Amino acid sequence: MEKHDVVIIGGGIAGLTLSKFLAEYGIDFVLLEEHNDFFKKACGEGITRFIAGYDFFDLYESKAGIEKYIEETNIYTKYGILQLYMPVLMTDKREIESELARQAMKRGADIRMNERVEKIEWNGKFILRPQNIEAKFLVGADGIFSITRKFLGKGKLRCAIAVEGLSNEVKLDDEKIHIEMKKSIVKYGYSWFFPKREKWNIGIGSISMKEFKKAFNEFKKRHRVERWKAGYVPVSKPVEPYGKNVILLGDAASQTITSIGAGNMPSMICAKIAGDVIKKFSAHGFRDIDTKEYGNALRPITKMLKQDHNLAFAMHFIVRNEYLIHKILKKYIRQASQYYKKLEREKGRI
Ligand SMILES: Cc1cc2nc3c(=O)[nH]c(=O)nc-3n(C[C@H](O)[C@H](O)[C@H](O)COP(=O)(O)OP(=O)(O)OC[C@H]3O[C@@H](n4cnc5c(N)ncnc54)[C@H](O)[C@@H]3O)c2cc1C
Repeated sequence: MEKHDVVIIGGGIAGLTLSKFLAEYGIDFVLLEEHNDFFKKACGEGITRFIAGYDFFDLYESKAGIEKYIEETNIYTKYGILQLYMPVLMTDKREIESELARQAMKRGADIRMNERVEKIEWNGKFILRPQNIEAKFLVGADGIFSITRKFLGKGKLRCAIAVEGLSNEVKLDDEKIHIEMKKSIVKYGYSWFFPKREKWNIGIGSISMKEFKKAFNEFKKRHRVERWKAGYVPVSKPVEPYGKNVILLGDAASQTITSIGAGNMPSMICAKIAGDVIKKFSAHGFRDIDTKEYGNALRPITKMLKQDHNLAFAMHFIVRNEYLIHKILKKYIRQASQYYKKLEREKGRI
């Protein structure tokens, strides 16, 4: 039987970022991805540059796949336009994931495509079927329908549903992101217009399936795209992401910003933290390790994600009134804009 210290299930942005760090640390691992190419799922392809004190460029160390550097977002509510200053990278996400894989493989990583893990067994070590690979430590970076989360006996996640597509018919300022937060467009969600280098990634999503269906029917009458792609975004609070010798990462652990349905940068941050904890476990030969350390190391980001989750649900289900939501957003946006301007001054534009 083939043996490794670590197996990562899932080659999305979470698993690939982790593989980059594990390869850098010289840890023996293999990553198994079920698809034959990267970026098979729907995504708006925007990455918020700064979150929880982390800078995307410190995690990614490349400019490959970055199509635009956007600083301003217009948020359209029923009561006016709110202007948020927040650096966002508009990307070609397939290229971002391929670049992460290239960086990892340059450092010796073993990334295998077309390898769907069907079954996880535990007998003091993990055995993955049908690959027949044995591992001391397992990472489930296997997305929203995670087989690893199921193995850990953790329940299903609450999800929003969203669709996106590429369009070249948008007539808006292409140096800005545009977000519609109006109940007349969609309840319990928003629609977006993200400028890429040549086209726009546009889409709409909602926490409510019923509201989503109604809203999407109208949205697709107004906007034409090459092909609509649908997907789920976890909107549960982050789950306890560990069990004996196993951890969860990214969407599998609901490590997303509920209010904006963003999981790219949080997944990368959690992957960096996971990499550092695994490095420590590796120094002990993965014996007598306590995976709770991963939960502890994640605490600051988990706290931020939980606060955001509570705020998002309070806005949708308690405040409800669109005028009050506009007022709350206005206050939040003023504070957030100041914070991001300061960070960007310190770190430089790119
Ligand atoms: C429509 C839409 C728009 C979005 N827009 C944005 C956005 O603009 N910005 C943002 O930050 N976030 C956005 N998100 C969320 C973001 O895409 C996710 O949070 C992020 O991709 C999570 O990365 P991940 O690696 O955890 O999961 P995934 O990208 O889902 O990767 C999981 C990988 O695991 C593989 N896998 C699963 N099971 C197995 C198995 N059994 N064996 C082998 N491989 C397996 C899958 O093939 C997949 O490649 C959006 C989501 C949707 C649906």
